[in-house]
Amino acid sequence: MNDKTLSVSAIKEGSVIDHITARRALNIISLLKLADNEMRVTVGLNLKSQSMGLKDLIKVENFFISPAHAAQIAIFASQATINVIENYKVIKKFQVQLPEAVHSILVCPNPHCITHSEPVRTVFTVEENNHCVILRCRFCEKLFSRDEIQEEQSGTVTR
Ligand SMILES: [Zn+2]
Repeated sequence: MNDKTLSVSAIKEGSVIDHITARRALNIISLLKLADNEMRVTVGLNLKSQSMGLKDLIKVENFFISPAHAAQIAIFASQATINVIENYKVIKKFQVQLPEAVHSILVCPNPHCITHSEPVRTVFTVEENNHCVILRCRFCEKLFSRDEIQEEQSGTVTR
């Protein structure tokens, strides 16, 4: 089975999230709460990719990615592409765009940051440098690479 077949076959209506940074697919499933209902989700982990080496891929039937979802996905996988499938055909394909800021999803790694002692929502300003996402905490103003920052375990996803 070649890469193209694996990417887009066997889904009548829905979305294929492709070119996900390897080992980030499960974060995205949790972020979008794809496992919390009865949607049919197919996940590929560590698939070969010509451009990325290894990538993850998620297929979700009867689910369409909103621009808000796409911005959240970009925080985990800034190179991800979204394929919209209708009647077994890709009718639209677009790359996720990083949002200008992320609210609530991420936890500030600075132990002295006020977000740990006050009931405030975290806010990070997003910048990108060479496919590396850099986040600046709006409260303590420190800069972090994406990999330094943990997600909130029970956080709700908001814009
Ligand atoms: Zn902070």
